[in-house]
Parts: sequence; C-alpha cells; structure tokens
Amino acid sequence: MKVLVFGAGQLAQMMYLAAAPLGVDVYAVDVNSREVVNPMTKEKLDMTIEYAVSDVHVVTAEFEHVPEDLLNLAEKTGKLFPNMRSILTGADRIREKQILDSNHIANCPHSIVSQISQLDDVLNALGDKLIFKASRDGYDGYGQWRLSHRDELEQLKHAFASLDLVKVPLVAEKMIAFDREISVIGARSAHGKIACFNIAENLHHEGQLHVSIAPATNLEAKVHQQAIDIFQSISGALNYVGVLAVELFQTKDSIMVNEIAPRVHNSGHWTQHGADTCQFEQHIRAILGFPLGDTTSNSVTAMINIIGCTSFSRDLISIPGCHLHWYGKKLRPKRKMGHINVVASSYLELGNKLLQLLQYLPEEYFPLLKQEALRLIEVDA
Ligand code: ATP
Ligand code: MG
Repeated sequence: MKVLVFGAGQLAQMMYLAAAPLGVDVYAVDVNSREVVNPMTKEKLDMTIEYAVSDVHVVTAEFEHVPEDLLNLAEKTGKLFPNMRSILTGADRIREKQILDSNHIANCPHSIVSQISQLDDVLNALGDKLIFKASRDGYDGYGQWRLSHRDELEQLKHAFASLDLVKVPLVAEKMIAFDREISVIGARSAHGKIACFNIAENLHHEGQLHVSIAPATNLEAKVHQQAIDIFQSISGALNYVGVLAVELFQTKDSIMVNEIAPRVHNSGHWTQHGADTCQFEQHIRAILGFPLGDTTSNSVTAMINIIGCTSFSRDLISIPGCHLHWYGKKLRPKRKMGHINVVASSYLELGNKLLQLLQYLPEEYFPLLKQEALRLIEVDA
C-alpha cells in the first residue's frame, strides 16, 4: 500500500521508517518545490503531485501549513486523513479557538486583533500580561510577541504596524501562570475508536520544546481523565482520523488547551522506544484503516531535542536504553536537528541516565537537562 505525505521533513521521514515493516510505502511532497520526493533521501521522484494523489491509497500531512489547493486536491478524492477541516483548524488559531469554545473545552482567555486600534480594549479585557500570536503560519514560538507591562504597548504597536492584520489577525491570549505543560497524543480510527498514549510532560525554553518526559510525573487520575475527555471531544468534533496532539497547560488540578496539532507531534517522539506502538506506526495504521496498535508503556522515557547543534559525541548511544534519531538537515540556529530517546525502568534510573547523557552533550544547547535529571531523581526518592 502507498501513503502520500504533504511535507517532506523529519516527521515524514519517521512515518516512512515506521510504515516500512507493514509493507507500506511512503512518498512525500515538498510543498515549496512542489515535487514528489523520497522522504529519506529527498530524491525527486518522476511523478506529478496529481499522479501521486491518484496512485496512493491515502494522503496525509506532516504539518498543518499545507497550501489549500493541495489539501483540496486530496480532499476531493476522499483520501485525505485527517480531513481538510481538521488540518485547517490546526493551521489557524482562530478556527482552533472556535472549535474549543463551541465544544466548551477550557482554553486560554483570548481576543482576536485585526486592527491596532483594538489593542487598548484588549488590554482592558484581558490585562497587560499577554501573548500575541499570529493566527497562521507560526511554529516553535515564531510569530509571537509577549507583553509583560502596559508600558510596552507602544513598542508593540510599532512592531504590529508592519503586519497585515486584516489578512492574518493576531490572537491575544492571557499569559497563563501554569505549573507545567503536558500533552495528550492519541489516535482516532475511522470507526471512532480512540487509543491515547501516556500523557507527556513538556519542558520549553524560549518558546521551543526541549524535553518531554512520559508518563508525566505525579499526574493525578482526575487530570489524566480530563485530558482524555478533551482528546475525545476534539477528535470527535472534527471527525478526526489519525494521530492528533493536544498541548495543555496544567495549573494545580485543572487543565486548559494551549493548542492542537493535527498530526504526529514532537512530544510524542518518545513512543518510538517507550510504547508498544509508536505514534508514527499508529498514524499509518489509523489512516489506512488497519487495527490500532497497543499504546501500553511499561517504562519511563525522556525525549531530548537536539536544537541548533551538531557537534557532540555519538558515543552517547553506549548508554543502555539511549537512542539517537538524526534528521540529516543543514545546521541553522534553533533548528531541530534530531532527538534522543532515553528509556528507563524508573524516574530515578532515568534521571541518572540523563546525567550520564550530559557528559556527551554541550550543556549550552541543553539548558534544561541537568535540572530535569536532578528533579527526576527526586521524584522517586
Ligand atoms: P510549537 O510549534 O512548539 O507548538 P507554537 O509556535 O505553535 O509552538 P505555542 O504552543 O502556542 O506556539 O506556544 C509556544 C510556547 O509558549 C508554549 O508551549 C508555552 O510554553 C508558551 N505559551 C504559549 N501561550 C502561552 C500562554 N497563553 N501563557 C503562557 N505561556 C504560553
Ligand atoms: Mg505549541
């Protein structure tokens, strides 16, 4: 069987690797060059996008910012999973808020800004600790502006003056003083069957994900259930098929949605070694109508992103349970170059392995790792 993925980055690569043992071939579309390529080698394949869409069994996406004409092309064949509405919802923060609000799902208090003149009213309504997000095309913290005091508003108005806010409005969100970030990732089949992975705890630095720990430490059963219920509501409302990620903010024992990603997700990479079926295989299974795999996990896993850095000793894979995934991309500052999964039988063991791992890594690129290792050691103490 054949799958076509819109997007030819590392997520398409990892889908390719997970699909191969099932006898499934994965092709990718580089949406910039509009070429059909092999997701591993990036070698251009001799076929048009139209031909590829007609030739494969299903079409999916590795990111939400896919040009609408391509989504339309696939949607009208009935082969696009998740459906176009789900992908467009993930691509547009305004649509996303509408889905959450209309399904009574807790999310950050927010306002839509399409004119600079609205800003004073927004501050009056939401306070002056705000985060402004471009409603489309943002990722990894790009397209975001923070306001921590009313005095900074003039400066921000100046920055917004160069944007076309009518075309791409901003979403102003109240800055949430959450205790931590968690995410629920799961799959929904075409029959509405749901299988969620363990909930991950996510550590960000400068708006970018650096470390995920699964399962999240000290997660109360009540919060766990709330997260699963939210997953069920959103995936049901969108008639979603495939793997979906929901990023959440937790404050004490309550949670609210930060954003959704209609695809496999960075905070689910730990499943490659920490769960019976990984998120990439699960996505392939769900979109092709195969039975969903077991999501059980008997271990604790850390996923560490390698960001903007290529020089470190590959000997880190000598640590038992430590696996490197290298994407083969050109180095750029703040670019995700690869990730490391570390599997252990307890948080204590995991913490100790992360301390070992630091001996192979330049600490400046992994600013959260030491503190997290020490915290995990304490969790089990
Ligand atoms: P990514 O692509 O990594 O998911 P993104 O660019 O889509 O990021 P968000 O997830 O919306 O952006 O924001 C990135 C990070 O900024 C969040 O994970 C969180 O740490 C912080 N953040 C976002 N919104 C808020 C908020 N309302 N209050 C406090 N922190 C926030
Ligand atoms: Mg996010």
